[in-house]
Amino acid sequence: MLGPFNTLPKPEGCARLSSTLIKNGLVVTQNANREVLRTDVLVNGTRIEQVGQVGRDADDVVDASGCVVMPGLINCHAHVSMAVMRSVADDVRLEGFLERTFAIDSKRTNEDIAAGAALGCLEMARTGTTTFLDLYYAQDVIAKSVEQVGIRGYLGWAVLDQEFTTQKGDPVKNCEKFIMAHKGRTLVKPVVAPQGVYVCSDETFRKARELAKREATFCHYHLSETRYEVYEFQKKTGKRPVEHLAETGFLAKGDIAAHGVWLTINEVRMLAKAGVSVAHCPTSNMKLASGGFAPLPEMFANGVTVCLGTDGASSNNSLDMFLEMKFASLMHKAHRWDATVVPAQKALDLATVDAAAALGASRDFGSIEPGKKADIVIVDCSTPGMTPTTRENAVSNLVYASPSQAVRDTMVDGRFVLRDREFVTVDEGKVLADARDKAAALLARC
Ligand SMILES: [Zn+2]
Repeated sequence: MLGPFNTLPKPEGCARLSSTLIKNGLVVTQNANREVLRTDVLVNGTRIEQVGQVGRDADDVVDASGCVVMPGLINCHAHVSMAVMRSVADDVRLEGFLERTFAIDSKRTNEDIAAGAALGCLEMARTGTTTFLDLYYAQDVIAKSVEQVGIRGYLGWAVLDQEFTTQKGDPVKNCEKFIMAHKGRTLVKPVVAPQGVYVCSDETFRKARELAKREATFCHYHLSETRYEVYEFQKKTGKRPVEHLAETGFLAKGDIAAHGVWLTINEVRMLAKAGVSVAHCPTSNMKLASGGFAPLPEMFANGVTVCLGTDGASSNNSLDMFLEMKFASLMHKAHRWDATVVPAQKALDLATVDAAAALGASRDFGSIEPGKKADIVIVDCSTPGMTPTTRENAVSNLVYASPSQAVRDTMVDGRFVLRDREFVTVDEGKVLADARDKAAALLARC
């Protein structure tokens, strides 16, 4: 989808180097042929200019020998600001989990939300994620943290029926206000996020769709996460959620539905027909014992675009997309008794090129190719958990070995956010201290 990310960035108050040469890395390109090349990458401004032996100098030269150079990972379902609520409700049934997290959430202030968002963005940048899709309220607060850290956020303002929300005023109007104030930004793209069928009436879905259409963005929503959700909805309406949303004309091309665990094959075909992508969240589904397994092989076979999401830090409890790739692969192998299901290359696709396609941003993200945005991660393969890394096993190591601790540099939009393991954009110590203080105070209030 063309949008604010395609426009040239405004100067952001800090010097931007006009060119960066990343030399001699093992480049996992994720191009159409999935080539892995020992070569250079030249970044000019915010975009990749050349992939290959570069015969000229640049303003900044980065030695990537002994490293993998890869496209930044894309997390397609998160609640980033819940990072301060990490591990607040572990090893309890879903009802207990929801009761505990809602109770804490209702006590949160904007300062807590900002601290959580900054913490979550740091965690993502440190673990190789350059873009994420979020679902929450107070996205205006989250947007500031996203821009300060300097990663990309597709920020979905939660829209739900008045009777279920803690938001002040009408959530649809709040979402509209957020979009108006944030469209055209470089790193933040506003999205409409009807929370799920259990809190959104047909009328709310209709208003959400109208707003998304009018503002040329998409809708992001939870969908068929648990059997309970599906059965309760069926009791009320006589239809399964996807059937109902298809019949009411809500589903639309470009949407991203999170979870999609409890789907019939008929519903998978409906999503494919409507052009709705699914953000698969394997860790969250396993940890909350959602039961069942999202039917990934059937989604692939029917042409549903699948991407991956971590979900929030209270149901995961990390925002590490390398782990999400690994669990996505292992979960379906174990379930199908078939080690060939979701191979390493496909798992990496889900977090890069397929995620970019789901976001309607294939032109900009997902691979290291000339013309793409310079969202690049450099993984130091001299660590014990990444040794030996070769051209042949690089993709396997990124999915199955221990890459997240080995992330050395993270570049977003041509600018280093993390360089030689140090944050360039923010003071990491201060962000962590603030998050600890806010988390302790929040829990004390609850
Ligand atoms: Zn969620």
